[in-house]
Amino acid sequence: MLNGIHFLLSYACNMECDHCFLFSGPYAKGTMTIEQIKSILKEAKELGTIDNVYFEGGEPFLFYPVMIEAIKLSKEMGFNAGIVSNGYWATDPDDAMVWLTPLSDLGISDLSVSNDSLHYGDSKETPAEIALIAAEKLNIPTYSLCKEKPEIKEHEDKDHKKGAPEISGGIKIRGRAVEKFAADLPKRSWEEFNECPYEELENPKRVHVDAYGNLHMCQGISMGNCSKTPFSKIAKEYNATKHPIAGPILSGGPAELVRKYDLKIENEFVDACHLCYTARTALLDRFDEFLAPKQVYGL
Ligand code: SF4
Repeated sequence: MLNGIHFLLSYACNMECDHCFLFSGPYAKGTMTIEQIKSILKEAKELGTIDNVYFEGGEPFLFYPVMIEAIKLSKEMGFNAGIVSNGYWATDPDDAMVWLTPLSDLGISDLSVSNDSLHYGDSKETPAEIALIAAEKLNIPTYSLCKEKPEIKEHEDKDHKKGAPEISGGIKIRGRAVEKFAADLPKRSWEEFNECPYEELENPKRVHVDAYGNLHMCQGISMGNCSKTPFSKIAKEYNATKHPIAGPILSGGPAELVRKYDLKIENEFVDACHLCYTARTALLDRFDEFLAPKQVYGL
């Protein structure tokens, strides 16, 4: 049952991280308006199963007044509301309290902050840490998001030879990560990736919605477009087996996209997401309604 909506308040971000699966950055287009947010919240109410909403991006604090209004509207309508940020705005402990006090007053249910070397390199005291400390002082529930550059994991058993090499860092190889990391990582034949390890495509529990109306089940795989069809209708009528991308992935993983659409895939792949993203990129023009927007494919 769909119970969460994550608003991609904007694709714009002050950073341009190597592992970003949305190709966000300072020049990325696509920022939501308050009217759009209002209309999706109303539709979420209509659907009746949504209890939590998140505001993220890109970087939602770049659009602070819109984000505050969105949280206010969400709370008035009875949703739990959280935020995902990189914490760039926490340049000073006292100022961080000023940024966060209005959110504490509104009663946000979670502030998740990216706090890792991919965002802040080797810095000792990061803005993310300052943000997390200020949030804790204000009794805002927090979560620290930590990913690292993907590397081959050393097995504790040094004689270990069997099985696929494990990769550390918690990053899925899709989006910008394909360009930045795939070349240096071990790969396997595409035929081995027979399931999606992460998303519940048959019955998604949360979707991401962007400024263009796309409802992403996984980034770049759209359930439908809520600027053309009401959100509640798309959610009620969604049938994974009829979806041209989710259907094959469900029946045989990303490898099934290659088989079903007879894609000429010659390379080997780091993980299921690497194959999935590559196969989808090859299908963009064929299924532009379901593989959108093109900018999350780096185009
Ligand atoms: S990119 Fe494909 S394989 Fe990876 S989580 Fe998304 S749907 Fe699943």
